[in-house]
Amino acid sequence: MKEFRDPQRFKSLAEQIRNFKLDDTVRLMEVCGTHTMNIRRFGIHTTLPSNVELLSGPGCPVCVTDNTYIDYAIELTKLDDVIVATFGDMVRVPGSYESLESARSRGGDVRVVYSPLDALKIAQENPERKVVFLAVGFETTVPTIAATVLKADELGIPNFYILAGHKLIVPALEALLSGDNRIDGFILPGHVSAIIGVDAYRDVLSRHKVPGVVTGFEPVDILAGILMLLSAIRDGRFVLGNEYSRVVADEGNRRALELMWKVFELEDVPWRGLGVIPKSGLKLRKEFAHRDIRSIVKITPPPPREHPGCRCGDVLQGKIKPDECPLFDTVCTPDNPVGPCMVSSEGSCHAYFKYR
Ligand code: SF4
Repeated sequence: MKEFRDPQRFKSLAEQIRNFKLDDTVRLMEVCGTHTMNIRRFGIHTTLPSNVELLSGPGCPVCVTDNTYIDYAIELTKLDDVIVATFGDMVRVPGSYESLESARSRGGDVRVVYSPLDALKIAQENPERKVVFLAVGFETTVPTIAATVLKADELGIPNFYILAGHKLIVPALEALLSGDNRIDGFILPGHVSAIIGVDAYRDVLSRHKVPGVVTGFEPVDILAGILMLLSAIRDGRFVLGNEYSRVVADEGNRRALELMWKVFELEDVPWRGLGVIPKSGLKLRKEFAHRDIRSIVKITPPPPREHPGCRCGDVLQGKIKPDECPLFDTVCTPDNPVGPCMVSSEGSCHAYFKYR
């Protein structure tokens, strides 16, 4: 029996957390949509003492993608010579006026792919059209996309492009900790950390004196991470821990990071709810500008707007819980999502709805 699947360990950790004594209220944020989902799915939130609050953070890549990006992708679908290729989660996300799904239903060529290499294949098969891959996500997906860009050059496929929309997690933590929302500790994302490593968080978390623990996705991993955080907070200690050392190294994945920085460079980008965060996104380096659809096709989407009732931006900053949004489970459901936090399988509103 692997330790992280051991039911006895699960019981013991849950018991220790349930009986954990804290003088003050503690607010922990999980910065990963899969953590949010698994915390609700396995009922981990029910093991916490009543004065420990869990907040969902900006860890769902589709949710933090702001409307200007989606609107731009929708404008691309109006061009006859463009095929838009995307991961499935993006298709139903509402932009300012419509979603890619509705753009497709009125004739736009939008194709769901499982990897950027699928998009490259579509480009190879459709040499007369521009194939644009919607490059969204955190550091986890960047190396594969970087490798695809290099592959497109190597194979001499001229009609493969990306719409760059990647986000970096550490600048988002900086923005959250510089805001007015109190966060006492972070359950740090497992997948992103496998790329960037534990050490990537040290500067921001130690400056703000807020502990963080990199955590895997098994219930035992999450409970062990929470217990480490609670102990550090009770003792007034700073800790940067790793409860996912079977996957995450202190220095991250050097090969993946080299690939990422070979193709991309930093850019100031807008986040839903958090505004423009300096150096929090990625754009293609000059030598790969021929793969950047924005430099090839000049279009101006209509001015962006937000659904007036959707509080997704506040949910992503941990300012409210999803079920505090007045539209939750009334107007807004996974079948009829008003905002991206309800659409995505990693969205907090979706997780709260599914396991409510
Ligand atoms: S419940 Fe729906 S409307 Fe409310 S914040 Fe979540 S996605 Fe937006």
